[in-house]
Amino acid sequence: MADIVTTREIHLAARPKGWPTADTFALVERTLPPPTAGQVLVRNLFMSVDPYMRGRMNAGKSYVPPWEVGQVIDGSAIGEVVASNAEGFSPGDVVTSRFGWREHFVADRAEVRAVDRTVRPLSAYLGVLGGPGLTAWVGLNLVNVRAGDRVFVSGAAGAVGHLAGQLAKLRGCYVVGSAGSPEKVKILTDELGFDGAFNYKNGDSLEQLNRVAPEGIDVYFDNVGGDQLEAALSAMRLHGRIAACGSISTYNNETPAAGPRNLFQIVTKRLTIRGFIVIDSFDQLPAFEKEVTGLLASGRLKARETIVEGLQQAPTAFLNMLRGGNIGKMVVKLA
Ligand code: NAP
Repeated sequence: MADIVTTREIHLAARPKGWPTADTFALVERTLPPPTAGQVLVRNLFMSVDPYMRGRMNAGKSYVPPWEVGQVIDGSAIGEVVASNAEGFSPGDVVTSRFGWREHFVADRAEVRAVDRTVRPLSAYLGVLGGPGLTAWVGLNLVNVRAGDRVFVSGAAGAVGHLAGQLAKLRGCYVVGSAGSPEKVKILTDELGFDGAFNYKNGDSLEQLNRVAPEGIDVYFDNVGGDQLEAALSAMRLHGRIAACGSISTYNNETPAAGPRNLFQIVTKRLTIRGFIVIDSFDQLPAFEKEVTGLLASGRLKARETIVEGLQQAPTAFLNMLRGGNIGKMVVKLA
């Protein structure tokens, strides 16, 4: 049986106002007892930094409860069982969990899920085979994206966006995307097969959207909200559909931003807007995995990720992701 383990984890040290800073986080050392009956000791290999984590730093209930100050930052992680006192788990097994920003943890067997340890890279379970991949797939299904649709994806070079755009292409759609740098725009069109892309920082979003999608759009996969949502509403065709996935342009606002000025387009164009939260769709994981694993294996779907190394780098990785420093899924690799 394992000895007591000394390990490190990252806590919420203070609630940020506006953008988080280094003072928002604290690196804390602690010891873990050996796993008792029904428990496993896990060493994290990769952990996730995600936009929704910004919301959990605020006081007040959202769709997920806020973290208390002093609480560990939990979230998706993939790790390796180091010691097991639970039937069905052995050292070397690879598991996903919600145990987040820590090097090791002890958990009940029901709190971890064994996954295929031969998958490479294993970080795929935090990206294309995890929450972001499922989010892209669920969002497209929610608004019934089908061959011939003209689709616009914002945040298109990010974890969810680059998968949503490619999956829409694979369904036979005309797909355009927006992202925040020339490098990202080039990757979208030259590597990921988007039909058009623009840098939203380069001028008016509607003008740029009209240039890449001159016939308008049937579907908007909204990751960012703000003026790109306004542009999408204006570019929508009759009976258009919006999958409302996120609103990252607003997450660090200290006061609420003004809404789109053209909401009446919802009426005149008979639009449908459907919001969703992926945690409601975890029961669809097997069907999703079946489809996406095949696409990945055949090379028809490409998964991009940006890797940062070291537990102590997690706050920087998180902030860089919020500022656009990632291409594909931002992941922290532990030594
Ligand atoms: P991500 O796209 O990998 O990373 C965030 C990206 O947001 C950055 O790379 C940055 O890219 C972009 N961004 C930052 N500020 C922006 C701004 N002011 N305007 C436009 N883009 C901005 O993150 P993700 O995990 O895939 O999440 C994408 C969105 O989906 C987020 O809104 C997230 O909250 C949402 N989401 C929703 C669900 C759900 O269940 N509904 C689940 C997962 C994620 P640029 O360089 O392009 O600016």
